[in-house]
Amino acid sequence: MAREGFEELLALCEPRSGLRAFLGIHDSRRGPAFGGTRRRVYRDEAEALRDCLRLARAMSRKCALAGLEAGGGKVVMLDGPDVDVPAAYARLGERIEGLGGRFYTGPDVGTGAEELAAIAEHTGYVTHPGERGPGRLPDATAAGVVAGIGAALAHLDGREDWERRVIVVQGLGEVGSRVARALAERGARVLATEVDGARAGAVVADLRASGLRIDLLEAADEPARALEIECDVFSPCALGGILHDLTVPRLRCRIVAGAANNVLARDEHGRRLFERGILYVPDFVLSSGALIRGATFHRSGVRLPLEDIGARVGAATAEVLALAAAEGLPPDELAVREADRRIAAGRGEAPARDDAALSAPTGAPS
Ligand code: NAD
Repeated sequence: MAREGFEELLALCEPRSGLRAFLGIHDSRRGPAFGGTRRRVYRDEAEALRDCLRLARAMSRKCALAGLEAGGGKVVMLDGPDVDVPAAYARLGERIEGLGGRFYTGPDVGTGAEELAAIAEHTGYVTHPGERGPGRLPDATAAGVVAGIGAALAHLDGREDWERRVIVVQGLGEVGSRVARALAERGARVLATEVDGARAGAVVADLRASGLRIDLLEAADEPARALEIECDVFSPCALGGILHDLTVPRLRCRIVAGAANNVLARDEHGRRLFERGILYVPDFVLSSGALIRGATFHRSGVRLPLEDIGARVGAATAEVLALAAAEGLPPDELAVREADRRIAAGRGEAPARDDAALSAPTGAPS
């Protein structure tokens, strides 16, 4: 925690509901910490804790690069047969209320409208899933991801040229299904993988009903095959940690750009992609749409239109890629350096430099 600059970590354990969770606040000095609640099965508490800390730090970086007066946090809940899900979320809501507004939570893997409603019964420091909230956040995330993919294509080739693109989308969940739809609407050829066969079928049927088309890969047999498809863009929209020593050499795409948080198993894998000539768009730049929508709404009551969110994420992506190219650096290294510089400057730990690489996006709430 000291090395990475964390402020606070709560370990929650409540036998009656089966709640076992970590709530990490990385930074709340620029404003309240924002971070979704992730619920999944973990090998053990150590693995869950690592996930919590990494995700919370990534949220601080997202906030810094999105120009938000907010910081990063995260809740990671260990799922299992003993968890009474509604009761566990209710207890979590009470604990968040006890933080008095230093931390707001929202959706993530395993936490959707139902779970958010259970939290909202006990605290207002949560993204309300209904009309009182900022609207459907996956829409905002997807708007940013698609705009960022467009910026990456334009960075390499001078234009988006959607009709000539082949894009592989891994995961057709809340975000991936919207990304797949938006790409198909723009005329790209979309290939998708989804381990949940029923979900895959429903998304394909939905797109077909709108006269759109995606092709499904046999994800159920071997999810990792998605990596080996020759394509313009590989868009990971499932879980993180998928790019590592074994998978990076198998990629046959020109660009990696998706919503999944912490796609790189370790930071060094960004450099490996760079050395392979694959353009990696840092996940914490690309997937910040929901955070921009949610944090702006909680801070000022404004629901930013999806076009504005897309424009902001697209512009931030273009800027990171251009500056990284100018410095000959992998984009993730440049983005991390710049985000950490801003976080440190916000804490008064380091003077703001004149050669600050990235400008704050326009329209950032003050
Ligand atoms: P989700 O759970 O709705 O969707 C994930 C989908 O991926 C599921 O349908 C799941 O079956 C599928 N999947 C899992 N492993 C797979 C594999 N190996 N191959 C193919 N499919 C696989 O989650 P989501 O809300 O769509 O989020 C997706 C990712 O984006 C997560 O990493 C999340 O942290 C990140 N993210 C989401 C948001 C948001 O607004 N929901 C915001 C920022 C980042």
